[in-house]
Amino acid sequence: MPKDPLQVLRSVFGYERFRGQQRPVIDHLTAGGDALVLMPTGGGKSLCYQIPALVRPGTGVVVSPLIALMQDQVETLLQLGVQAAFLNSTLTYDTQRQVEQKLLDGQLDLLYIAPERLLTERMQALLGQARLSLFAIDEAHCVSQWGHDFREDYWQLSMLHERFPDIPRIALTATADERTRHEIIERLGLQDAKIFCSGFDRPNIRYRISPKQDARRQLVQFLRNEHPEDAGIVYCLSRKKVESVADWLCSQGFSALPYHAGLSAEERQRNQRRFLMEEGVIVVATIAFGMGIDKPNVRFVAHLDLPKSVEAYYQETGRAGRDGLSADAWMVYGLQDVITLRQIVEASEADELHKRVERHKLDSMLGFCELTTCRRQALLRYFGEISEKPCGNCDNCLNPPDTWDGTDAARKALSCVYRTGQRFGAHHVIDVLRGKSNEKIRRLGHDRLSTFGIGQGMDEKQWLSVFRQMIAQGYLTVDWEAHGALRLSEACRPVLRGEVAIRLRRDRYTEVSAGRRQTV
Ligand code: ADP
Ligand code: ZN
Repeated sequence: MPKDPLQVLRSVFGYERFRGQQRPVIDHLTAGGDALVLMPTGGGKSLCYQIPALVRPGTGVVVSPLIALMQDQVETLLQLGVQAAFLNSTLTYDTQRQVEQKLLDGQLDLLYIAPERLLTERMQALLGQARLSLFAIDEAHCVSQWGHDFREDYWQLSMLHERFPDIPRIALTATADERTRHEIIERLGLQDAKIFCSGFDRPNIRYRISPKQDARRQLVQFLRNEHPEDAGIVYCLSRKKVESVADWLCSQGFSALPYHAGLSAEERQRNQRRFLMEEGVIVVATIAFGMGIDKPNVRFVAHLDLPKSVEAYYQETGRAGRDGLSADAWMVYGLQDVITLRQIVEASEADELHKRVERHKLDSMLGFCELTTCRRQALLRYFGEISEKPCGNCDNCLNPPDTWDGTDAARKALSCVYRTGQRFGAHHVIDVLRGKSNEKIRRLGHDRLSTFGIGQGMDEKQWLSVFRQMIAQGYLTVDWEAHGALRLSEACRPVLRGEVAIRLRRDRYTEVSAGRRQTV
């Protein structure tokens, strides 16, 4: 008699009901279909293959790259009374033979194998003789060259399909941007697989992104107004900045600790422990902080620098509000962020292909910042999840931004970049536009250009906003070898010819207590 998935969930795993899309995935796989499952970490991916492996006759073979995780899972399963085993390099010869014999005797519900082992001729032959219920490929993003976990062995897993065409396969990952998804489908031959993507929404997190004026003061204001005694994480790009922001927060009466890879292991551990144990500690960190940090009551994640990609943003902000109570993802972002990150990408040692990927990721992130519609919908769409309605819990939903017709301003900006020879950064070009007559401008003769003073109608802040958006939208590029000189891109032509209209976001500036402007 075929077993019922819900009964297995209850009797074996002790859970009352399925979560999210577990049920449809399990039904699809049990019926013999292939599946690609995109679910965030903690979403409950394991049951998606464990239950079908118990319901279908034969052994479910799980490919996993992480040996420690493999052993944990098998131990847990054994405690639940499931016949599970693993094969990897940590086992003795005798134990390996025993496991292989169990497989052949049909005594295993689940067998976990490292990819390099699965690919051996010997293992293939064994699997050919055994009765198999399914193949599960965990951490499937390891096939992706773009990711940071690329594993060459994963590429060859496509042969499972060729060698065992009748055995259903399920690939699972928490990484779900479109490019990776396509690569998984292609590399693993999953063209006919049904895609299940869900659970990425974190409804209790409120997303907010504001233009950067004086980042530190904006941060302190945000903390004083909304999180005076809460624990949170502040992300910065450099170690130096981490140190100085932590000092600054302490001087403002917060209990803030630095965390970055340049600190000694003891100091990192000490700071991490205080963050976990004490109330109301703020960690100021580079991205080195956060892996494996599971503190439920992180009330805010603040970014003083832009993350490198939407995925990084999602991961980092996702550390807030794990307890389900409301939490803030707060970020300030400005022209200098765009320029710095572009420079980092261009100056990296990576080959052209990887740079292109990095550029693309950064562009998506910039697009996300400049968005005038619901941020949550955009974030979920990025992961392939459709949400029908605007969320009502992000800055753009709560306080819809104005847009304005920036076509004329954009044309003036582009002309001025062109007339000044595409050799200067935004600040100089803006001075020319605004008709400032300083020493540099006179020396260069830029006060005699036709574009001198044509932008007097707008102040410096407004022009910076125009340039930031023009760079973010790809009309202007930044030449890092030439001290951040702006250059026109191909995309400018229709703008200069007056063929397209440009809508820009009207930046809203909150009142920031007096202080020198530090960054734009
Ligand atoms: P993932 O592999 O997606 O990171 P796991 O499969 O490890 O997630 O599951 C995360 C946690 O959620 C585990 O502790 C698991 O036992 C639990 N879990 C999974 N499905 C359910 C469910 N239907 N009901 C209750 N808890 C569940
Ligand atoms: Zn929204």
